[in-house]
Amino acid sequence: MQYISTRGKAPALGFEDTMLSGLARDGGLYVPETIPTLSTEDIRAMHGLSYEEIAFRVMRPFVGDAFTDEVFSDLIAKAYAGFGHDARAPLVQLGSGHFLLELFHGPTLAFKDFAMQLIGQMFQEALSRSGKRVTIVGATSGDTGSAAIEAFRGLDAVDVFILYPHGRVSEVQRRQMTTPAEANVHALALDGDFDDCQARLKDMFNDFEFRDGVKLAGVNSINWGRVLAQVVYYFSSAVSLGAPDRKVSFSVPTGNFGDIFAGYIAKRMGLPIDRLVVATNQNDILHRCLSSGDYKTDSVTPSISPSMDIQVSSNFERALFDAYNRDGNAVAQLMDELKAGGFHVSQGAMQVLRDHFDSGRVSEDETLAMIARANSHMGELLCPHSAIGVAVAEAQRDPNVPMITLATAHPAKFPDAVEKASGIRPPLPERMADLFDREERMTRVPNDLDQLETLIKDRIAS
Ligand SMILES: *Cc1c(COP(=O)(O)O)cnc(C)c1O
Repeated sequence: MQYISTRGKAPALGFEDTMLSGLARDGGLYVPETIPTLSTEDIRAMHGLSYEEIAFRVMRPFVGDAFTDEVFSDLIAKAYAGFGHDARAPLVQLGSGHFLLELFHGPTLAFKDFAMQLIGQMFQEALSRSGKRVTIVGATSGDTGSAAIEAFRGLDAVDVFILYPHGRVSEVQRRQMTTPAEANVHALALDGDFDDCQARLKDMFNDFEFRDGVKLAGVNSINWGRVLAQVVYYFSSAVSLGAPDRKVSFSVPTGNFGDIFAGYIAKRMGLPIDRLVVATNQNDILHRCLSSGDYKTDSVTPSISPSMDIQVSSNFERALFDAYNRDGNAVAQLMDELKAGGFHVSQGAMQVLRDHFDSGRVSEDETLAMIARANSHMGELLCPHSAIGVAVAEAQRDPNVPMITLATAHPAKFPDAVEKASGIRPPLPERMADLFDREERMTRVPNDLDQLETLIKDRIAS
């Protein structure tokens, strides 16, 4: 299995190099050269299997010869062993034909653990085989950073630096990043917003001298390994509702478009998915784009769903690549226009996008109202991100097709918003109840590439 860049000018790589490098050298994102498919019988045979067994069958064709079958199933087993629910991704019913996929039972209480825990295992295996060391730098709006730190803390072959927007993450998110005591963990509070963090990270990847000098590796949602791990729960949940003999739809709280793009890959692999619904908060560039074809950046307005406070949605580039018939030059040109503020998606490409994706936007007040109503009428305490998914699903759903909304974080990760809406302050699960007692450790950093690079070089040299 080979991976190619969405901008058409970087060398094709195998799975291991794709995973270890993150961003392609032409600034593009790696995608599989061809998408493997599973037959109706393959999918039907998943009925009754464990999450780990389904994970193996879904991901195996993408991994190529990077790992033997035995090693790969062992890595999957280790990745999910620390989850607080035996089903890993349990499905609960919200109402007639509407289901909630709980993706928050991992060690940092957000869906990002599904990918990050597996990536941690795969990095460790690949690096210990080659004896190499890497420097992981990630940008986070809150949940990626904590999930990455949790996955890489204490690993010999890795230093992990996480850039988060100072003052713009929840206290639980911040503490999950600043309290791990391992020396290879570095939490950096940047003076700026999430898009600034993401932009500086991209700058580091495009500075080849720095990139090669520190052996930079990326685990942001642009890393193909992350997208791949997220494809699994689309299969496990759809199969438990009767796939492949019944279609399902998904509503996905969306920021960087990584999670919903995994759903698109599941569909391309042969899973009968009817609609993939992009649910956004007031930072609604994707909803505006899917409605009008205009992808125009705006400034970020902080919201009660901070993990979706994004204007430049990195993984959308992968969807555009397919919508433009995999024309890397066309994508590279759109990305150039984006630097000047935005672009217009061609009519043909919009047609392709609309064949797969719907979208909806939820205001702050509607989010709070949805949390309250889910608590009083559906028996569920939702985090604000998940509430946005549920609200869009309720508004747009076809009564004849079961709808699965992805619950992307545990309500205890965003206790202030949940309490404001419902009157209930959700407690942290017992296994992390001492989070507020642990000592914090972080470095304030300016929004400046040179200073960031110097700091990283100094830290890994010491
Ligand atoms: C990251 C995140 C999202 C957005 O996911 P994308 O893959 O970036 O679209 C939504 N909800 C929560 C809780 C998250 O942590």
